[in-house]
Amino acid sequence: MAVDSTLSSAVGASVSEKDAKALQFIEEMTKNVDSVQERILGEILSRNADTEYLKRFQLNGATDRDTFKSKVPVVTYEDLQPEIQRIANGDKSPILSSHPISEFLTSSGTSAGERKLMPTIHEELNRRQLLYSLLMPVMNLYVPGLDKGKGLYFLFIKAETKTPGGLLARPVLTSYYKSDHFKSRPYDPFNVYTSPNETILCPDSIQSMYAQMLCGLIMREEVLRVGAVFASGLLKAIRFLQVNWKQFAHDIETGTLNPKVTDPSVRECMSKILKPNPELAAFITKECSEENWECIITRIWPNTKYLDVIVTGAMAQYIPTLEYYSGGLPMACTMYASSECYFGLNLKPMCKPSEVSYTIMPNMAYFEFLPHDDSSAQDSSRDSPPRLVDLANLEVGKEYELIVTTYAGLCRYRVGDILRVTGFHNAAPQFRFIRRKNVLLSIDFDKTDESELQQAIENASVLLKEFNTSVVEYTSYADTKQIPGHYVIYWELFVKDAANAPTDEVLSQCCFQMEESLNVVYRQCRVADSIGPLEIRVVKNGTFEELMDYAISRGASINQYKVPRCVSFTPIMELLDSRVVSKHFSPALPHWTPERRR
Ligand code: AMP
Repeated sequence: MAVDSTLSSAVGASVSEKDAKALQFIEEMTKNVDSVQERILGEILSRNADTEYLKRFQLNGATDRDTFKSKVPVVTYEDLQPEIQRIANGDKSPILSSHPISEFLTSSGTSAGERKLMPTIHEELNRRQLLYSLLMPVMNLYVPGLDKGKGLYFLFIKAETKTPGGLLARPVLTSYYKSDHFKSRPYDPFNVYTSPNETILCPDSIQSMYAQMLCGLIMREEVLRVGAVFASGLLKAIRFLQVNWKQFAHDIETGTLNPKVTDPSVRECMSKILKPNPELAAFITKECSEENWECIITRIWPNTKYLDVIVTGAMAQYIPTLEYYSGGLPMACTMYASSECYFGLNLKPMCKPSEVSYTIMPNMAYFEFLPHDDSSAQDSSRDSPPRLVDLANLEVGKEYELIVTTYAGLCRYRVGDILRVTGFHNAAPQFRFIRRKNVLLSIDFDKTDESELQQAIENASVLLKEFNTSVVEYTSYADTKQIPGHYVIYWELFVKDAANAPTDEVLSQCCFQMEESLNVVYRQCRVADSIGPLEIRVVKNGTFEELMDYAISRGASINQYKVPRCVSFTPIMELLDSRVVSKHFSPALPHWTPERRR
């Protein structure tokens, strides 16, 4: 059926009635950005008018943008921590939201080393579901026939904890996969997964991965798209196949499930799927035993039309590896979301990774933008409140920091993402994800900032004291050439007494001490094997001076030169690596439990 929608007519596709409705909705929202935003703010402010937080700013019932902007401050997580802690401790009064806080979503962003706790309310699930429901209608415009097969998606739940007041604290995707919205979703031929719900909902991530990969192998010819949420997750799955393919071939040949998979519901659902298939087992053995794993994705899943993984932001570092394993399949980055709020989607999901722009849906929350200019101090001092721009008034080419006001009660909250406006769809700006503020190193979900790295180095260098040795300079690098990736820290040391220099054992302990000092998300990723052991590379004395000379030769000012605390530029990497005198690795896993430390 041909439908009047700018989106579908732009690509000349004819679409089903259901898709047409979703596309019309996108058109409506993007044409009426400003009025939708005004309505959303009005709704949020009127329903939350009697919350302790909003009452503090004496809006006196006003729900308009001017009053809101003039009276309510822009805040960070740390500003809201007292309120969040009270809710976590069991205070059920309307502190931030008039609707009861149903649970906390644990962000991968951290505060004082712990995951941030984002309050949410039950109805937010509907908003998230709404955004998900727009993804396939857009994808169907570009890739026909996705109802003729299945998606192999590696989806996982993670550990959940309870706050002292008894509220659940868990990642947003765990909350979503465990909800009826996901578990009891109606059949949709365009959204059939190879992984049964039982395998996704298995709390043991290794058993879950094992069963999901096995299903993917068994249904290999039906698979039309392969994905995970982030690129790092898909590469983890490939590595898992690399390590376990013999066992998979054995299971498939004999029709029996590896006894290490003990979860009863996984075993039960796999018993219906797994039948002896020696031919498939032989095929897997042949493909996986080859030394060269180039194009392994298309060799095993030959009908794959695209990879569905986020490769924007910190995940861009994985593009070359994914290209290698997939033989250059398109990589679709479909949506942009966070624990605080789901923001929007990519209306051209088959574009090149470097061209991905997300369109923020104005019905998800009220959005404001703080012009971002690296050269000026942008911290929101209370004396001169920053001028925030509305979604409808942004300028193409400019960069902004995203600020949200949500139904769940975050008001003018700094998400910490820097976005650049690349254009418009109707009246809705489209954004390139530039980076997350202050993040220096990231391999998987971890985000390590400069002060965390500095603190970790200080803690580790205490071990050098008895050797009369100190760290003169350092920099870091997220090495993702191998899976799992790992942090590399370059150290230039000042050793006072060469006869008593720190040994390999001591420097390895320094690696471990650094890992122990890094935030909870880093340590969790280490324990889950999605980050490898931290490495210290000791470089020759004078290396950092050479680094400075190099920067100056390329135009840096001597007065303003600062040692970059993270490097990725190839000539600099080459310089550093050519000066390495020794390499040391963390010998053990750092401490991690799901419980919060405080
Ligand atoms: P979390 O709070 O752990 O859910 O992480 C949310 C953050 O992940 C966002 O604020 C972004 O920094 C990042 N993120 C989410 N979606 C994307 C995307 N499509 N591209 C780049 N970064 C993303």
